[in-house]
Amino acid sequence: MHEIRRYNRYTDYMKTIFGARVQKISVDAGFTCPNRDGTKGYGGCSYCDGEAFSPSYCIPDKDISQQIAEGIEFHQRRYRKATNYLVYLQSYSNTYKPLPELVRIYEEALAYPQVVGLVIGTRPDTIDEQKLDYLSTLQKNAFIMIEYGVESVYDQTLRRINRGHDFQTAVDAIQLTHEKGIPCGAHFIFGLPGETKAMMLAAAEVISSLPLTSVKFHQLQLFKNTSLTKEYLTNPEDFTLFSLDDYIQFIVEFISLVRPELIIERLAGEVPPRFLVSPPWGKLRYDQVRILIEKKMEEMDVWQGKFYRKTS
Ligand code: SF4
Repeated sequence: MHEIRRYNRYTDYMKTIFGARVQKISVDAGFTCPNRDGTKGYGGCSYCDGEAFSPSYCIPDKDISQQIAEGIEFHQRRYRKATNYLVYLQSYSNTYKPLPELVRIYEEALAYPQVVGLVIGTRPDTIDEQKLDYLSTLQKNAFIMIEYGVESVYDQTLRRINRGHDFQTAVDAIQLTHEKGIPCGAHFIFGLPGETKAMMLAAAEVISSLPLTSVKFHQLQLFKNTSLTKEYLTNPEDFTLFSLDDYIQFIVEFISLVRPELIIERLAGEVPPRFLVSPPWGKLRYDQVRILIEKKMEEMDVWQGKFYRKTS
């Protein structure tokens, strides 16, 4: 039976590009972050635990080729169908080095057999025209995508979580990336302190107006040993963490407001349980939460962009 898609799924987008399943392999290439090394700030974004997102095979002491080999072996055991791999530079800010070092890292990853491209996660204030020009030349032989942590469209929130850049910085980076012809993704968190549901829903229009290819949405999750978690434990009344039901209701409403062409890579966050303080449903596997969201979309007869209105 033909399955009705109520939103644009990233896996379908990848299949359109490559004609087959493509698997991402996380690699930690030893980058740091300007919001941790003192260039923009110390201590990082208040919610950030850099370790929480790295798979066990992904250790910066190992060289890049070894991490790729171990990542492929790991995924081949689980997803036998994948034959093409994208190297995902996820930890910290993966454009935050001088260009010659970036060239060495990116080209070592792309030289690995079976690797068909790179997905580069980074901060919007660690990219420039020269780096983007270089990345656009790599596109002749490989798939290249940049994924920016944007997190919120509100400057007051970005200040509150110590992001160290404003929303306009993200807009400029996304615009320049788009002008260079490089597909561009962005990451957003819902439930950050100080944001009401109305503010979060209003962000759909702003996000839709950006020249983005794809988006990832996460509920706010509090990790052990972060300053945001300390704030939460001291003043829990300042936080409204989404319950699972409330998040599902919210994200379905949100998707109905989002530009229909945007590719949605993620609808919720998932993290290894040992890192998580709250909310407890963050321990559910992403697939379980995704299925609940898809069911709710059906129940409410909602689809991506149902209530989207293009603004000039
Ligand atoms: S920019 Fe990314 S890596 Fe750096 S502190 Fe913030 S969330 Fe962590």
